Amino acid sequence: MLPTYKHEPFTDFTIEENKKAFEAALEYVEGQLGKSYDLVVGGERISTEAKITSYNPANKEEIIGIVSKANKDIAEKAMNVAHETFESWRKTSPEERANILVRAAAIVRRRKHEFSAYLVKEAGKPWKEADADTAEAIDFLEYYARQMIAIKDGKPVNSREGEHNRYFYTPMGVTVVISPWNFAFAIMAGTTVAPIVTGNTVLLKPASTTPVVAAKFVEVLEEAGLPKGVVNFIPGSGAEVGDYLVDHPKTALITFTGSREVGTRLYERAAVVHPGQNHLKRVIVEMGGKDTVVVDKEADLDLAAESIVVSAFGFSGQKCSAGSRAVIHQDVYDEVLNKVIQLTNELTVGDPTNNGNYMGPVIDDASFNKIMGYIEIGKEEGRLVAGGTGDASKGYFIQPTVFVDLDPQARIMQEEIFGPVVALAKAKDFNHAIEIANNTEYGLTGAVITKNRDHIEIAKRDFHVGNLYFNRNCTGAIVGYHPFGGFKMSGTDSKAGGPDYLVLHMQAKTVSEMY
Ligand code: GLU
Repeated sequence: MLPTYKHEPFTDFTIEENKKAFEAALEYVEGQLGKSYDLVVGGERISTEAKITSYNPANKEEIIGIVSKANKDIAEKAMNVAHETFESWRKTSPEERANILVRAAAIVRRRKHEFSAYLVKEAGKPWKEADADTAEAIDFLEYYARQMIAIKDGKPVNSREGEHNRYFYTPMGVTVVISPWNFAFAIMAGTTVAPIVTGNTVLLKPASTTPVVAAKFVEVLEEAGLPKGVVNFIPGSGAEVGDYLVDHPKTALITFTGSREVGTRLYERAAVVHPGQNHLKRVIVEMGGKDTVVVDKEADLDLAAESIVVSAFGFSGQKCSAGSRAVIHQDVYDEVLNKVIQLTNELTVGDPTNNGNYMGPVIDDASFNKIMGYIEIGKEEGRLVAGGTGDASKGYFIQPTVFVDLDPQARIMQEEIFGPVVALAKAKDFNHAIEIANNTEYGLTGAVITKNRDHIEIAKRDFHVGNLYFNRNCTGAIVGYHPFGGFKMSGTDSKAGGPDYLVLHMQAKTVSEMY
């Protein structure tokens, strides 16, 4: 019996010993930089001519690792291996599979700061954010292990006289996992082990900006005893490898986290039945957000300002859950706005290896340009009151930026920016605030800061988002506590880290036996 699940605690870096241990991990990882990583197909290491070079976004000169790059031929080989391995893997017991996850969690826990240090270097995460990413990866392993045990016998159904009926879940087949860079460890690990623990085999294509942490995790799974061919590591280009696998007639399930543009395209492609395919593909997609912090007039205004700032600028706003807009009751608008400006001006931006910096860089050149483009749009649409500048000379740094007095229909109130930019708008009353909060095409997260019980009930019913938080920020969902996923164009609302997640990777089977 596994002990009851509890989330992995976050590291307190004010404790000198923890700070020292993290610095030692950073030093260790610095000594590992620039190494080469192979593809892994059926347990076999494959080194290719073509490479993906992973850079430190805080220092463009620094190479994190050089990773082999799959092409169509390798993807086809990996597909065949995964398809064959499925025949044996699907017959293993749920306990055996769950145990591998628990062992992997133990390995990661032992090397926790090392993994976080890779995230600091490869994803540009500040210590605190990196530590939370690693903790979440551990949580996914521990939680899904337990969930698998919980659902292994299916659910009860009725039986008539002379009949014995059963209803249980069975694996689907080869799963294509396309994971993002913003939770380069947690979401990559979570979306990889969910299909594995449910008896499927995996082709893992991590984001091209963060392949090294994924390569390290594949090593952990091997060390934990995962048989060859259950996970196959095939980083590569979306246009070549991604599309090929999404279209492949042997693909059973696709699980994707990333942009709305790629997600919707993938969803459409997966609907097409190709020659040789005798099933419909299942697709899990988690895409963007345009998430709102709503501030009521009866509210703790310091908490409101803090919630806006943390939601907007944690990991430089590069979360689909980021609160990139705030809608504030007109009676408290000016006061909240001033508090937000003050808090924002206190934030520091710089190299995330230095724990003093609240924000590190954004992920790459394309992101930097896109965000700076939105800052220009914001200057036309609203009033800039903080930040507004960027510097990409060494790394991709952008100052936390606040625009105020926005029209609810303004582009920076509607489009996902995925950077450290927040837009503030005024509402006439609470219902008007909820109306504005619902006026986007997305429906992922939201927060409401209020002391009014009736308003809490109204928001529970009418604020149309997958994750709704009261009197706190709208980021930082915890596995097993805040199952995560969104409505509308945010995705299929798969609720990662929740009790319904694993069954999305399985098919229910009814068995009826007469005696
Ligand atoms: N689960 C994360 C959170 O609650 C966000 C995930 C994402 O950005 O993809 O903040």
